[in-house]
Amino acid sequence: MKNPNIVILGAGYGGIMTTVKLQKALGVNEATITLVNKNDYHYQATWLHENAAGTRHHDDTRIPIRDVVNFSKVKFVQDSVVSINPDKKKVQLAYGELDYDILVVGLGFEAATFGIPGLEEHAFMINNINSARLLRDHLEYTFAKYHNEADHHEGRLNIVVGGGGFTGIEFVGELANRVPKLCREYDIDPAQVRIINVEGAPSIMPGFDPQLAEYAMNSLEARGVEFITGAMLKKCEADKIVYEKDGVQEEVPTLTTVWAAGVKANSIVENSGFTTNRGKVEVRDDMRAPDYDDVFVVGDCALIMDESTGRPYPPTAQIAIQEAELIAKNIKAMVRGEEMEPFEPDLKGTVASLGHNDAIGVIFDNTKIFGWKATVMKKVIDNRYLFKLGGIGLLLKKGKFNIFY
Ligand SMILES: Cc1cc2nc3c(=O)[nH]c(=O)nc-3n(C[C@H](O)[C@H](O)[C@H](O)COP(=O)(O)OP(=O)(O)OC[C@H]3O[C@@H](n4cnc5c(N)ncnc54)[C@H](O)[C@@H]3O)c2cc1C
Repeated sequence: MKNPNIVILGAGYGGIMTTVKLQKALGVNEATITLVNKNDYHYQATWLHENAAGTRHHDDTRIPIRDVVNFSKVKFVQDSVVSINPDKKKVQLAYGELDYDILVVGLGFEAATFGIPGLEEHAFMINNINSARLLRDHLEYTFAKYHNEADHHEGRLNIVVGGGGFTGIEFVGELANRVPKLCREYDIDPAQVRIINVEGAPSIMPGFDPQLAEYAMNSLEARGVEFITGAMLKKCEADKIVYEKDGVQEEVPTLTTVWAAGVKANSIVENSGFTTNRGKVEVRDDMRAPDYDDVFVVGDCALIMDESTGRPYPPTAQIAIQEAELIAKNIKAMVRGEEMEPFEPDLKGTVASLGHNDAIGVIFDNTKIFGWKATVMKKVIDNRYLFKLGGIGLLLKKGKFNIFY
């Protein structure tokens, strides 16, 4: 293919890693590369729960795109993708239109609310920097408001988190660290504050190692978190939630509901005419969309079946990064008329934080880790990504080095 016009949509884990790898792999005369993203920064979605709880400032989580992308090799367009027309090879942006010869779709995830009434209107989400920052400010306001109201609202200091999966538990862990500090700052008795996690499955972290899930529950309960498991959230209102457990509906008054119980692919993908499975593009083994030889899909917008379980691989940053590395290789092969390679995930395990001082994980050959060891491992994973993306400079600027904190 001669001097193709390569367009990459989204600068999340998948999009930015594809861009960074491609800018090194291809010469400036071989292709034109354009990266489109809503913001002029890349953010690490895997740190958003810390920003949302207020335990880490969002500036630590976001990385200016110009710091990792070479603008003399890549044209950066800050704009919002509205739709893709794969038949005409066009991308509609809020403020323009782009043509492409090769497209990479990396538009990430959005919250899935499963039609539960009131969640869209009243619940906070942890989807991006804006939503995380809003939740952090809301928590701060809630605590600040307490001594400024004559009659305390009964749900003022109840924080309900819907979802006891990975994101919900990581967020609750950060909250358990943050709440004592907020109480000190706003002169509130910690006994007045409730952090309540509602999970539909019989135990938290469904699908994770049961022993480690129990460890997580004990660790969080010791720090004051309450769990309501086997309970489905039925309704969210401005000042309460309703859940159902064992056929009985119960209410919890709250002014803070956080929905962390599900994500789906960016709906632009489904609305743009791609053949989808569960809202995602089930890609071929070289990461291209089934119906379009010139469209690659990466990260949470792509679906790959795990032959060993018959289920799709869960959407993770780990997979998005590995897919991006292969997509960059395959685009280079396509441009040079060489053979493309199949995607073979190399899963190195999963580690979930339980606040800054505890974690659980299963790594490499099913080794279970928890406590300090898992906390250090989580930081190693985060730091490894920074090194991969921007070398030693980015690692030193944004890395997590304090293993005792
Ligand atoms: C709190 C939390 C904790 C997590 N922890 C882990 C973990 O420990 N390990 C792990 O592997 N995974 C974890 N995940 C999952 C992981 O973050 C996602 O799987 C990963 O972010 C997917 O990468 P992506 O490149 O597909 O999309 P994203 O990282 O979501 O990036 C999408 C990009 O596209 C941009 N974009 C979106 N819409 C548009 C538009 N219309 N126009 C222009 N740009 C747009 C966004 O701004 C963003 O930059 C976690 C997720 C969350 C929320």
